[in-house]
Amino acid sequence: MRSVSYPVEGYQTVGGPVRDVQNMGSCELHKTGDDLHRYGNGFYETGHGRLHIGCHLSSSGGYLQMGKTALSIGADTFQFFTRNPRGGKAKDIDPDDVASFLRLAQENDFVQIMAHAPYTLNPCAADRRVRAFALEVMSDDLARTEYTPGNFYNFHPGSHVGQGVAAGIELTADLLNRILRPEQTTTVLLETMSGKGSEIGGRFEELRQIIDRVELKEKIGVCFDTCHVYDAGYDIVNDLDGVLKEFDEVIGLERLRAVHINDSKNPFHSRKDRHARIGEGSLGIDTFANVINHPKLRRLPFYLETPNEPEGHAQEIRLLKELYRQR
Ligand code: FE
Ligand code: FE
Ligand code: ZN
Repeated sequence: MRSVSYPVEGYQTVGGPVRDVQNMGSCELHKTGDDLHRYGNGFYETGHGRLHIGCHLSSSGGYLQMGKTALSIGADTFQFFTRNPRGGKAKDIDPDDVASFLRLAQENDFVQIMAHAPYTLNPCAADRRVRAFALEVMSDDLARTEYTPGNFYNFHPGSHVGQGVAAGIELTADLLNRILRPEQTTTVLLETMSGKGSEIGGRFEELRQIIDRVELKEKIGVCFDTCHVYDAGYDIVNDLDGVLKEFDEVIGLERLRAVHINDSKNPFHSRKDRHARIGEGSLGIDTFANVINHPKLRRLPFYLETPNEPEGHAQEIRLLKELYRQR
């Protein structure tokens, strides 16, 4: 496995001075990183009194293409898979593509983008080779996400496949402790899951227990998936306040960094995980109006993972923007 280094020396948040990047490391991915970071000084923090929203996009055309598609559908962010769902080799990073994208993102006030790990990885598998593969892919992903510093990397905590929840939690935390680096600028997000099969992360307590075991806690956050939490038995339709209160007590709302905004094809507590378009599932449009306007959520970035083409996502984004109340 290639050793991972991070070109993050000169990382600055937007608004700060741009410094040169030193210590580029030996990873061949980072050969021309200096140019990248002239533009790569981070993304805007959210909270500008507007709805921050995007959707999952195909990464096959590269970063600039995703940025342009996002703009064309009214988005100021997006999510993408780092590689194909099977976890195969990722495409080489094209430094010019990244630089062009970072320029576009700054010019258009993008907020944090989200890379999503291949969903077939299992960080807490019983089979050691399956875990080693998850570790290899995720560390490589974290090297790659440093080309676009200061953003999110979201993953599924995994399935314990009969080892028991406690063993799964240990293994996933152990993997995180091996891949997180003090110098990384990417925040790694644990996704709330529906609890289907032997999935870890269907209960807030399970995410909390993983976080408790992670050494570099400042690199960790949580992504709240509306379809998953509802399928898992958190009633955000009738008691969003209560669910967020529970999240706060168990995990802490300061860890909540992003929302996957999806309707669900299945009823409450079904533990199924099938996404529906906004307003077309069991959550319903009123729930989404509540979610995007909730004082604890309204500044977060929202990412649609609904079954739609870009045109359909553009419609959903328009709809949600209409529902967003100015304060
Ligand atoms: Fe996911
Ligand atoms: Fe999700
Ligand atoms: Zn899902």
